[in-house]
Amino acid sequence: MAHYGAMRTLVVDHPLVTHKLTALRDESTDTATFRSLTAELVTLLAYEATREMRVQPCSVSTPVGQAQGVKLARPVPLIVPVLRAGIGMLEGMTQLLPMADVGFVGMVRDEESLVASTYADRLPADLTGRDTFVLDPMLATGGTLATVIAMMAGRGAASITAICLLAAPEGIRHVESTFPDSADGPSIRVVTASIDDRLNDRGYIVPGLGDAGDRLFGEI
Ligand code: URA
Repeated sequence: MAHYGAMRTLVVDHPLVTHKLTALRDESTDTATFRSLTAELVTLLAYEATREMRVQPCSVSTPVGQAQGVKLARPVPLIVPVLRAGIGMLEGMTQLLPMADVGFVGMVRDEESLVASTYADRLPADLTGRDTFVLDPMLATGGTLATVIAMMAGRGAASITAICLLAAPEGIRHVESTFPDSADGPSIRVVTASIDDRLNDRGYIVPGLGDAGDRLFGEI
């Protein structure tokens, strides 16, 4: 596999983030509350995740004069929720980036081997110069995220920021080792509310919050 930029991980330890994450973890939190908390938490994570977005200077006329400011650089950012659970994070992200385009990647994990395979690819063919944001609530083994990052890097994305509610150390190590240091690739970052203890033998994050897709959308 090609080598891209070294990955950086940011754990957002703001009290509001930890408060909402704690409620999400609680097994007694119902689906409706889980959905709205996820949206709120993603908006808070997105605030940090967008800190390095490219901007260009501009000036505007206020009622009393000229002000120098910035506007987001073009092309507009791309948000990529990973189906199915990433869809539950889309609303919280578009709250902050209503101008962004949205692509989709469908990944399914074999429950025995824990290996992820792609069943849907609705991404632009050319991502040259774009800031991109991957939404996947649980960074568990890292197989899904590594596959999606490779797809986007291969299409020329300028930056790839994964927003994950939770991450396991195993998953972070896997993505880090898949994309070791290199000067000519995109910048790669993971922004998360917590790095938990470990994965269990079924590939669930411990203590985690259970199956994010089931808790957002029910068991199907
Ligand atoms: N996917 C989930 O939904 N939960 C986990 O703990 C790990 C992967």
